[in-house]
Amino acid sequence: MRKTSKVVLVLLGLIILSAQAVMAFDLTSLLNEGMGRLEAKKGSQNLCLITNAPYVRFNGQSAVRCLDACSELTGCTLGSERLLFVQRPVDAPLVAALYDRSRQRLWALRWDGQQAQSRLWEVGDAALAQEATWQAMQKSPLGRDAFSLVSIARAWGGGAPYDLLKCAEFHDHLCPGVTSGYLLARFILQRYPLRPGQRYYYVGSPVWCKEDAVQVLLNLTPGKRGMIVRPLNQEQKEALPDKTLGGLFLRWDAKAQKGRALALSFDWQKARGLARLGKEKKRDDGVRLLLALLPVLDRPQELVSVWKESDLTPAQFQALMQTGVDPYKQMGFTDKP
Ligand SMILES: [Zn+2]
Repeated sequence: MRKTSKVVLVLLGLIILSAQAVMAFDLTSLLNEGMGRLEAKKGSQNLCLITNAPYVRFNGQSAVRCLDACSELTGCTLGSERLLFVQRPVDAPLVAALYDRSRQRLWALRWDGQQAQSRLWEVGDAALAQEATWQAMQKSPLGRDAFSLVSIARAWGGGAPYDLLKCAEFHDHLCPGVTSGYLLARFILQRYPLRPGQRYYYVGSPVWCKEDAVQVLLNLTPGKRGMIVRPLNQEQKEALPDKTLGGLFLRWDAKAQKGRALALSFDWQKARGLARLGKEKKRDDGVRLLLALLPVLDRPQELVSVWKESDLTPAQFQALMQTGVDPYKQMGFTDKP
């Protein structure tokens, strides 16, 4: 290799290393401040770190590079289930939060690459019951990140299983809707396990947050054609014979060309009863409801049931897995004027 090429390579390497070091240094020094505010000790089992770092970029590089230094500082590692992520668009500001479950306090940081803003929040039941807490969080630089961080932190603190937290990571927050999807998927796995040659398919209709949990838990993604999402309009929703209908699971054997269709329902009334929610809507209803669902996650049959089921013919399977409208035709892009 020519001498000049070697010099260029060494310089490039130094630039990359220093960029990593700057990012790691900046975030770890900020997190160090958070550890101080929480009076947290490295490696404490009561501490977790939640961040969108794997998804966002700074100065042209993924912020994931700072995570090793953050784990080193806090003791929160992936393997300990105390390093959790929250999905965001690639151009979003970096967000990181440290949560101490023993005192239910959350230190949250938002960093846009130039300016860092951080604050300590009380996020226990009493604080979340106050409308003022939610208003303050919404008005703060955290904005909509606040609910993501608080919901994931409280669920983690309440003992949420890691696979539910993975659903929350993909959905970008944890809510009763995504938890209902987790329960629907767990119900199918427990009551209708696959036999050799079979595969699950899923038609999400009506659509709500549950679809994201089904994707993660069963690896049924639209890209792999395992999931079809079919929203219903208001009229169609009102025409549903049962308002608890939660989606259609298919168990299909492609070789034998036969299968089973299972329409499942989710009992929201019972779920609300578990959380003792009143008729009047309150800002902490979502967090209270998802925390109340945690103890029944291993018993999905308490809230999920089969509304109807039947054998599935090849013609029905094909019709279900094809979407209706051709979007390009709808826009007139493929029709001659
Ligand atoms: Zn949701």
